[in-house]
Amino acid sequence: MATRVKQEPVSPTSRDVSSPPPGVNHNSQIVEREQRILNLLQKSTKAISDKEILLEIPDLSPQDRATIINNLLQKGFLDVFKQGEKLVYKFKEPSCPSKIKGADNEEKIVYSIIEKAGNKGIWTRDLRVECNLDQTTLNKILKKLESEKVIKAVKSVAAARKKVYMLYSLEPDSSVTGGAWYNDQDFEAEFVDVLNQQCYRFLHQKKEAVKNCKDGPIVAQNMASASSKDVWKYISELGISKVQLAVQDIETILNTLVYDGKAERSVLADGSLMYRAVESLLPPPGIVRTPCGVCPILKQCSDIGSINPNNCVYMTEWLE
Ligand code: SF4
Repeated sequence: MATRVKQEPVSPTSRDVSSPPPGVNHNSQIVEREQRILNLLQKSTKAISDKEILLEIPDLSPQDRATIINNLLQKGFLDVFKQGEKLVYKFKEPSCPSKIKGADNEEKIVYSIIEKAGNKGIWTRDLRVECNLDQTTLNKILKKLESEKVIKAVKSVAAARKKVYMLYSLEPDSSVTGGAWYNDQDFEAEFVDVLNQQCYRFLHQKKEAVKNCKDGPIVAQNMASASSKDVWKYISELGISKVQLAVQDIETILNTLVYDGKAERSVLADGSLMYRAVESLLPPPGIVRTPCGVCPILKQCSDIGSINPNNCVYMTEWLE
C-alpha cells in the first residue's frame, strides 16, 4: 500500500493564519508552496523534518503540509522515513526516461501522471485536475513532450472530441481504440461484414462436408464444429485483415452469428468454445427486416413532427 501522511487535527486559529491572502486562490497557493518545499528538499543533502518545512513556510497549516507531502509522494519526488517519533522526508528523482531527465519539475509531474495512466491514457481534463497546472502551461508541456516523442495523444472511440495521453512507447488499450473494428474512430462496418460472411462460410463448409456422414448424428455434429482458434487460423490465412486479429476478436464475430441464429455455440470440458453452423428453422419475421423493426426512436416517430417516415433516411435507403 502506498505511504500516506495523515493530517493532524488543526485548531481554527492555525487555519485562519494559513488562509491565502484575499485574491489568492487556495489551490494556486498549494501549488506554489509545493514547489517551495520541493526546492527545499532538492537543496538539502539530508532528510528534512516538518520543523525545517515550517522554517521555510511558517504559516503552513498541518492540513496543507499533509496535502503537499502526499502530492509529492504520489508524484514520486520523495521518500518518507521515521526518525525516532517524527517523520523525515528525502528528495528522490522520480523514475523518468533519459529524455525527461533534464526537464523542469512541472514536466516531470505531468510525465509521472501520464506514466501512471498506463495504456488506457489520461484525458486532458483529468490531467489538468491532477497536476494542478493552468491550461496554457499544461498545453505547452504536452506539446513539448509530444514533439520529443515522450508521450502521444490518442483519439478515444468513446467520444469524438476526446483525446487521451499516454507514453509514446505504449500500445493503446482496445477500450481506447475500439480494437480491430475501428479505424481512426470510424467503425469499419464493411470489414466486420466481410469477416462475418467468411466465418459463416467456414462453418457452413464444415457442415456441408459431413452431410453424408454415416457415423451417426453426434459424430456428424462434432465433425461440423470448429473451435474459435480454427476459425481464427482460417481467417488469418485468408489475409483479408490488415490488422492482427486475436482469437477473442474472432469470437466476437462468431457470437454475432450465434445471435443471428446462424450458428450455435458449445463449451468443451476444458473451457474452449466450439461453433457450428445451423439452419434457422424460421426465417426472421418481416418486421425485423425493416428499419422500423429495429429503430431505437420508433416511439418518437409518427406522421406528424420532425421524426416521421417521410424524411427518414433509413427508410429512404431501405426502399431504394
Ligand atoms: S420511419 Fe425511420 S425514424 Fe421512423 S420508426 Fe422507421 S426507421 Fe425509425
